[in-house]
Amino acid sequence: MLIKDNFEEALKISESTNELLTHYQIPPSPVNYSVIYLYASERNEKLTAELERHIQSYQEIDLTFIEGLFEKYISNSHIIDKQILDPIEKSLTSTLEKINSQVDSDKMIASNLKKAEKALSKHEYHKSMQNIVTFLMSSITTSQQQHSDLSLELTHACGEVSFLKSKLKAARHEAIVDSLTGLFNRRGCDVKLQELDIEQVHSSLAIDIDHFKNINDQFGHFIGDKVIQRIAKVIKSSISDKDIAVRFGGEEFVVVMVNKTMSQAHEIAEKIRLAISGLKLMQRDSKAYLPSISVSIGIAERQDELNWTALFEQADTALYQAKNTGRNKSVCL
Ligand code: GH3
Ligand code: MG
Ligand code: MG
Repeated sequence: MLIKDNFEEALKISESTNELLTHYQIPPSPVNYSVIYLYASERNEKLTAELERHIQSYQEIDLTFIEGLFEKYISNSHIIDKQILDPIEKSLTSTLEKINSQVDSDKMIASNLKKAEKALSKHEYHKSMQNIVTFLMSSITTSQQQHSDLSLELTHACGEVSFLKSKLKAARHEAIVDSLTGLFNRRGCDVKLQELDIEQVHSSLAIDIDHFKNINDQFGHFIGDKVIQRIAKVIKSSISDKDIAVRFGGEEFVVVMVNKTMSQAHEIAEKIRLAISGLKLMQRDSKAYLPSISVSIGIAERQDELNWTALFEQADTALYQAKNTGRNKSVCL
């Protein structure tokens, strides 16, 4: 669908949403707005049916009921910002612009009326006209106040929507990223794989730290974690932004080498391996150096039929060949 169609459709839905909110006297908070917006969009049959039953039974809408619908149908949805928050933000911003221009025109009317009142006050026989102008001025002051209050409320609602959007973004990021290393976790890997061009050649690296158990046993888990972090950093800095680096398990990593042949992937695998074996890691407190660390790497390239699980398994098989033939090496399958 074209952006313009999307925008016009969203605008239509947001107009219906505003009408419903006004009709049922529901405050336009992000939660209330989202539920009524989804109802007006008719995109969720179950929510629509449930809300209609509620309206038929009570002839009005209970705010706790709306919160319940939000929990049930919206709060877990990953499309919340695309289908709900973005249109809400657009609609709130455009309403805010209209209200603000109304505030400006109120100001101009008030100032013109003030001039008229001043002119009329010079002649006693214009007294009745002056009274009318004074009355109009007090009306415009009330309307000015109402518009300013509304503008403040809308500004506040816009802030809440931005806050929700940033929270959602952070939550989505947390769900796909490994907290120790900042690399993608398995879920993030799945998400990123879906974005790839399946026509291209892709390769995969399976990387495993050699004798890592010894590091933990000698220096403790905390230092072990630091080593994992440092190795993740080397991996990340050796690949391109397009490649996908994943912490696949405890001390195992997978890198999807996007649009790279086995020999290109092998070159990068060697770069990673040599950089890791050259690391000089020092324990901060004791100033003692850790023994040198190495990794073994298995490399595989996609077959005619692209099957990610099969590709990762092939890289794993190559990794075990590297382990069984001396470690600290990279092996192509
Ligand atoms: P190999 O060369 O055959 O890979 O030997 P290894 O000792 O690295 O392999 P093994 O699978 O025997 O041990 C892996 C160790 O990694 C065991 C586990 O305690 C440790 N480990 C797994 N996840 C973490 C983690 O998140 N932090 C730390 N510090 N250690 C971890
Ligand atoms: Mg290991
Ligand atoms: Mg392992």
